Amino acid sequence: METQRTFTILKPDAVKNQSIGAIIGKIHEAGFSIRAMKMTRISIEEAENFYSMHTGKEFFERLTQFMASGPIVVMVLEKSNAIEDYRKLLGPTDSTKAPKGTIRGDFGTTTTQNAAHGADSVENAKHEWAFFFSERELF
Ligand code: UDP
Ligand code: MG
Repeated sequence: METQRTFTILKPDAVKNQSIGAIIGKIHEAGFSIRAMKMTRISIEEAENFYSMHTGKEFFERLTQFMASGPIVVMVLEKSNAIEDYRKLLGPTDSTKAPKGTIRGDFGTTTTQNAAHGADSVENAKHEWAFFFSERELF
């Protein structure tokens, strides 16, 4: 299969808990290569924009406050079947239901604080990484 790229955010809980090294190790072990990476932050307004598909939902404010609450690590990852395989490596949204060995199972704590985001389509992945990375930051 051809290589594909996905976009991930290691969320504020993962940075705060000092889990980013272990998560990046797991990502490499799963066969992904890192094509872009940085530590940064987003404002509440940017979080609202990033998660605009969830506007009005019960968890929206909790989610956007959380995403703006501290530093995040953003990455572009590459591998065959990257979008689907990374969503599998993440595990389900609710960390308490995520199996051991998945990123959310090992490093997330709740449904909101679930350690990492993974893009759900090639189109969305490109749109998401374009917000964070310029051409010269992509390898
Ligand atoms: N989320 C939440 N409560 C919910 C569903 C989602 O706090 O009931 C948060 C969670 O951090 C999740 C994000 O909102 O990662 C986006 O939700 P989505 O349903 O797109 O889950 P994902 O695609 O991240 O698994
Ligand atoms: Mg989603």
